Amino acid sequence: MDSMTFVLFGATGDLAKRKIYPALFNLYLDNKLPDSFLIIGVGRGELSDDDFQIRIKESLLTFSRHVVDEKHHIEEFIKLCRYNRLDVTNGEDYKNLLDVIQQNEKDREIKENRMFYLSVAPEFFDMIASNIKESGLSSTNGCKRLMIEKPFGHDLKSSQHLNEKLSNAFEEDEIYRIDHYLGKPMVQNLEALGFANPILQALWNNQHIANVQITASETVGVEARAGYYDKAGAIRDMVQNHMLQLLMMTAMHLPTQISTTDIRSEKIKVMESLRPLKKEEVVDHVVRGQYGPGEIQGSGVIGYNKEPGVATSSKNDTFVATRVWIDNDFWQGVPFYIRTGKRMNEKFTKIVIEFKNPLKDLYRNDNQNAAPNLLVINVSPYEGVSMQLNSKNPQNGNLEPIVVDFSSSGKDVPEAYELLIFDALRGDSTFFAHWKEVELSWQWVQPILEAFEEDILPLHLYPSGSMGPDPSNQLLKVDGFKWW
Ligand code: NAD
Repeated sequence: MDSMTFVLFGATGDLAKRKIYPALFNLYLDNKLPDSFLIIGVGRGELSDDDFQIRIKESLLTFSRHVVDEKHHIEEFIKLCRYNRLDVTNGEDYKNLLDVIQQNEKDREIKENRMFYLSVAPEFFDMIASNIKESGLSSTNGCKRLMIEKPFGHDLKSSQHLNEKLSNAFEEDEIYRIDHYLGKPMVQNLEALGFANPILQALWNNQHIANVQITASETVGVEARAGYYDKAGAIRDMVQNHMLQLLMMTAMHLPTQISTTDIRSEKIKVMESLRPLKKEEVVDHVVRGQYGPGEIQGSGVIGYNKEPGVATSSKNDTFVATRVWIDNDFWQGVPFYIRTGKRMNEKFTKIVIEFKNPLKDLYRNDNQNAAPNLLVINVSPYEGVSMQLNSKNPQNGNLEPIVVDFSSSGKDVPEAYELLIFDALRGDSTFFAHWKEVELSWQWVQPILEAFEEDILPLHLYPSGSMGPDPSNQLLKVDGFKWW
């Protein structure tokens, strides 16, 4: 891999500490960083290189996936890290940064390949991109790349505006929009699952699949993020990005040759085939909920509108369930159900594919029903695939569902940020969101945002520790299904 300077904006922030340094360190241990590599952390406060390196060390000792037996690896790694004070609103500071980078490129014989990672508040994204351009930071003889965190806009218009600004400084193929769900190993495995298994490939369509259910549930509440979350809600925080990405990854039909362009264009085709919702129809296809008080793992918790920083009158959504139709030849007539919420009774992300069940009535015997075949893709916290089949219990002769299970988990599985940063370093944008995917997602979600804003559908309270409000079950029940 070519030498590179990795410039991290937001180097003293929470995400850098919990995810980005540990990911870079694990890549270092696995020999997956370029031979000549320098990390320049950029932050607003004054900090010496030594202090910066001590912070990184602490973050690695707390959050690194690999158990570090030999502390000397940490010492070696932190020598790759320098700090540079910069106020993102001050144009002059970027020129100083350029001097520092050029000097280091010279001293360490690093080619002018520069990665800019924006791990700062989203209101700074466009300003930083323009300053990178104006200061000359992006005028390189090598490559220049921009990695950018979510949220990418807060509605269709603002995302288009942001994209326009970024496009003035970077080409589309230089922009790596992070959706960390795309970095999860099981999500990256979806293409292989569908493609390397002829039995699944043959069944991956509306002739055999009855419905698809995608759930991402959390047990935590809003925590200390009310300032952001109360304006975003589950619809912006989860549905517009992560849930629709999971849907695209599940529903795409890959041509035989798998390339970045193929994958991205198939995902875009899925988004183009999503049946648009009109604002007036939202009430029939979307359930909006907010957690009330309840119990999580035996402890009492307060309701959302009593959380610090949340107004008692808040109508923010902490739960969204929706029915989505994909109007193309593969999926016509197959409902996709999406569900996500906070303060639910369990934390998991999984995709359940329920197969059609023509034998259901044939096999009726002593009230026995053949259960539908299910393919369950567990994304987190456990990674794995399981298949529910029907089998006769030899003891009583009853037909019973059995589960064939493959799971992998543990410290050997790389974290999402590791996989994503590695891909970006070598210029592979397969598992990053293309602008078109982001724009089509906002476009699909926009009428829902407006319906929520205008309060034209009910906000259902659900007890903390449940799986959301009952109308979410009704959403499936009217179609003859249930959540698995
Ligand atoms: P944070 O508030 O902890 O850190 C923000 C960083 O920005 C700090 O290093 C701060 O020094 C820097 N900063 C603020 N104002 C500045 C200025 N004027 N000049 C220079 N630097 C300035 O935020 P975070 O939680 O690390 O999140 C960073 C980004 O990642 C955000 O876009 C957030 O939406 C996104 N994100 C965070 C998480 C998470 O789990 N924390 C998850 C997903 C996405």
